[in-house]
Amino acid sequence: MIISIASGKGGTGKTLVATSLALALAKTRPVQLLDCDVEEPDAHILLRPSFSHRQAVSIPVPKLDEGKCSYCGKCAEVCAYNAIAVFPEHVLIFPELCHGCGACSYLCPEEALTEEDREMGILEIGQSNGVGFVHGRLNVGEAMPSPVIREVKKHINQNGLVIVDVAPGTFCPVVESVKDSDFCLLVTEPTPFGLNDLALAVDMVRKLDIPCGVVINRDGAGDNKVEEYCRERNVPILLRIPLDIEIARLYSQGITLVEGKPQWREAFVGLYSDIEQRLSARTKMGG
Ligand code: SF4
Ligand code: SF4
Repeated sequence: MIISIASGKGGTGKTLVATSLALALAKTRPVQLLDCDVEEPDAHILLRPSFSHRQAVSIPVPKLDEGKCSYCGKCAEVCAYNAIAVFPEHVLIFPELCHGCGACSYLCPEEALTEEDREMGILEIGQSNGVGFVHGRLNVGEAMPSPVIREVKKHINQNGLVIVDVAPGTFCPVVESVKDSDFCLLVTEPTPFGLNDLALAVDMVRKLDIPCGVVINRDGAGDNKVEEYCRERNVPILLRIPLDIEIARLYSQGITLVEGKPQWREAFVGLYSDIEQRLSARTKMGG
């Protein structure tokens, strides 16, 4: 089963939920945590994994052999990302815009384009307290997280529970991370900003036809608008984590909730059981 942990906005406690869910369940089943927030991965700070494998993540970008080029312009025509511009006696390639689709070199009539790898980030694989851990890091200045996210997701172990920590927001890399999930947990806080971004996130997962539930973090801090919204939109609230100075202190020290407050382990095991039951009921209903 793949459970993604997302949030419409940053700073809601998404990684706190992802890491504690992983640790709470790792004693009874194989669990893997994938940190797909490749622009700002931080699950490793809480899980402190020992890494056993590290590799570069690259995409193939075109390289021009100017001597063969007839300046026909076909490569620029086919590029959907404006990564090539052809002038009467010059071709400009913008590697940072290239998505590595290969269409230009495939269609070049003079075989003037070959491909070379451009490194976009790294991928690291390790273990932490029985949790298999994979994360990616996008190189500073890179604008396309999706190739690194795809590489992280290639390492999904289908034989256990997979928890995917997703970047905040509802933009393309978030969709890339969330798609293929069996269930999406949306972590929010009871504030107007939390509600606004939760509503965007619910719309996104519903468009992807992924069942979802809500975790309210810092419960008691704001108003009850998130609850009203969840009731109206029929989105179940599956867990509440109270506004608690001790939890905030643990998090700021890089300690997971279930390690710092072991009494929370049961709540996360219950959260998983709840998700399992909802998915089983959905399957029976043919949804
Ligand atoms: S398609 Fe090939 S030959 Fe035509 S402009 Fe591009 S690189 Fe040159
Ligand atoms: S590989 Fe694809 S995205 Fe990159 S320059 Fe060629 S056509 Fe454009």
